[in-house]
Amino acid sequence: MKRIFNKLNENIIIINNKGDILFCNEVLLEKLGYKQEDIIQNNINNILYNIEDIDCIKKEENIDLLFYRKTKDIVKFNCDIIIDFFEEKEAIFILCKEISKSYTIEDLDNLLDSIPIGLWIKNIDGKYLYSNRYLASLANKEKENMIGNYDIDNFKDEYAHLYKEVDEEVINTKKPRLFEEAIIVNGISKEFESYKAPILGENEDVIYTVGATRDISLRKKIEKQVFNNHNQVSTLNNILNISNRDIKGLLENGCYELLKYLSIDGISIWLYDKDKKELKSYIRRGYSVVSQHEGIIKLGKDTIEWEIFNNMSDGLRDINEVSHIDICKKMENDGVKYIGTYKIKLRDDIIGILTIYYKYDNKPPEYDQSNFIKAICGQMAILIKNLKLTNEIKIENKKRSNTERELALFLETAVDLVGVIDEDGYFKKANSKWSEVLGWTEEELININLKNLLHPEDMKKVLSVKDFKKGSKFRKNVKYRYLNKNGKYIWLHIGSKYVEEENHFLVTGRDITKEMYVEEQTKKLEKAIEIESMKNEFFSNISHEFKTPLNIILGSMQLLNQSIYKNSITTEKLINHISTIKQNSYRLLRLVNNLIDISKIETGYYELQLSNNNIVNIIEDITLSVVNYVECKNINLIFDTDTECEILACDPDKIERVMLNLLSNAIKYTGEYGEIIVSLKSDGKKVIVSVKDNGTGIPKDKIGIIFDRFGQVNDALIKRREGSGIGLSLVKSLVEMHGGSIRVESELNIGSEFIFEIPVSLIEDEEVTILDKNLRDSQIEKCNIEFSDIYNI
Ligand code: ADP
Repeated sequence: MKRIFNKLNENIIIINNKGDILFCNEVLLEKLGYKQEDIIQNNINNILYNIEDIDCIKKEENIDLLFYRKTKDIVKFNCDIIIDFFEEKEAIFILCKEISKSYTIEDLDNLLDSIPIGLWIKNIDGKYLYSNRYLASLANKEKENMIGNYDIDNFKDEYAHLYKEVDEEVINTKKPRLFEEAIIVNGISKEFESYKAPILGENEDVIYTVGATRDISLRKKIEKQVFNNHNQVSTLNNILNISNRDIKGLLENGCYELLKYLSIDGISIWLYDKDKKELKSYIRRGYSVVSQHEGIIKLGKDTIEWEIFNNMSDGLRDINEVSHIDICKKMENDGVKYIGTYKIKLRDDIIGILTIYYKYDNKPPEYDQSNFIKAICGQMAILIKNLKLTNEIKIENKKRSNTERELALFLETAVDLVGVIDEDGYFKKANSKWSEVLGWTEEELININLKNLLHPEDMKKVLSVKDFKKGSKFRKNVKYRYLNKNGKYIWLHIGSKYVEEENHFLVTGRDITKEMYVEEQTKKLEKAIEIESMKNEFFSNISHEFKTPLNIILGSMQLLNQSIYKNSITTEKLINHISTIKQNSYRLLRLVNNLIDISKIETGYYELQLSNNNIVNIIEDITLSVVNYVECKNINLIFDTDTECEILACDPDKIERVMLNLLSNAIKYTGEYGEIIVSLKSDGKKVIVSVKDNGTGIPKDKIGIIFDRFGQVNDALIKRREGSGIGLSLVKSLVEMHGGSIRVESELNIGSEFIFEIPVSLIEDEEVTILDKNLRDSQIEKCNIEFSDIYNI
């Protein structure tokens, strides 16, 4: 029976009710690594991993059991349990089917041949005991031809020597070594990373060396280029020297290398525009879903593309998974089988995306390259970011140098004055025009404070920084006088702007001295023309003034002659004619007197006959002498004084002329039933006389000219009165000759008040003159002359 069991391929182990092992066939013994004597009579519990109670086994018909092998590793069997007699005793038969698959050497060989890493085992003499296919392909050999040979047989001498050296080092030090090497494979230079390690025997001696090598050319190439270019762009100088094409070219090259290395059908880099929310195709190699001209994918909010772009994880996916997206549908139609997408990010900042495509006829990727591609994306992110920064800095630099150039050009060519003045009033910059206009050199200008440059009267026009901050920060067209080096002032039209960030003023200016001169000349000319026309008007008035009374006199004389001739004259008529002739002769006389006086004053021949007089009397008497005239117009004339006597030195004739002029004007320009108040005040130092009426008043704009010669107010609204317009100018001259002054207060339709002051001074050692009666008569005569142009007397 035992012999039969030993012939079977089934694994059989037989135990008694207590679990003692009665028998184990040879197949199972071999699998577990035991000999008969190792386990017979031992309890099965000693070699079972998962069972402690033997009754568990008895109850089951089928059970999974884990056995310890002699080497202490575990092997799993699915076991049928049969209770039967063995050597005439009831026993438990355990029939074991191995579950853990055991790999054959062949499987292992296949596995090792299919990975793109060169693997080998050598003895300490350097003879190849094993080589996988990939390593053999590097030596351009079949792997069977590698085994049993030495490096010197398999590789070029220079490599063989190097490998031998490393082998010896590993054997001597008993430590593994990792090294990189560059070798030429099939005429192409490649870089490899190799690992060699010792395998120690029982005595801790090295019995074999094992090794592995893998192609790191692409990684190295990209690393090297990225490193070089990263270095290049990381310094400002280099940034400015690098052209776009360098980095773009590098990325293009990187894509090309990846295309080859990954055996893909297409690769693209898309750049992400955050503001526009769109992906723009930047680089394409091999298959591309977009043509050169239509390289933009909009990622508008709420679109499926935006969702996918945002949530997409890096990696390769079957096109079926994403064919609901329009653009992926197109890819599918183009024959794309797999699409790989990898975000190009710098920290959390998404710069773009790298896509790779595999088509149907291409072999699907054999192993995951995601990490590798992600690492490359990381490097690309740095490059692209640098490229962007480079461009931005370049553009900024260009802009800045352009503006600076333009500013310099502007400052130099500007016809106007342009400068920068600091808050303390010193020039920081001034274009050459300033020196041209003001005569100071640029250096001198920078050292002179504005206070010393501006005309003292114009200083008040300067606004403080505070004023600028409060106000509009910009002022234009302010006229200032600036000191020229030759001592003369130059008129400048200045515009200024306060620049808060820089704490200074931008100042522009224009020399307007010539314009000001022209303006002044124009004003003078206008004034001259005005005077000329006033003179013309005056003379036409004067001739009218002369003609009117002369005509009347001549007319009256003719009538008289005729009447005498006809002998038909009555006394009454005679008196009338004589009175008319007299009145008009007075008018002529007044006119001639005035003209003579004015020309005397102008030529300096007019002299005052000063004597000490009681001015109160003079003013009162002359006022009373016009009573007849005011009565004609039913005007109420009031005389008021706060003193009865104030003696001062004056020319009574001239004071009378002043008063008669003022009174005749007051009567002329006051309507019937009006009122005229003459008042006198004295404070001991000066006498103030006022002639106030409630007549037509004087328009505001004319008040300033009525004391000028020919200053007759001529307004259509105001009825043209008789008169030459020289009375008030004479009055003013007469008052001023007395050391006094005259002014007027007037309001249209309310009335006018003429006020003159004469200082109280005396001629020493002279008595006060007493006006006698005769003088009064002459006063009446004067009145008649002065009032001769008031017709209705
Ligand atoms: P005229 O001989 O023409 O009166 P004046 O020199 O005496 O010349 O006066 C100048 C002008 O002043 C007058 O033409 C008149 O328009 C104005 N004027 C003078 N006095 C008065 C007044 N009391 N009321 C209104 N206007 C007056």
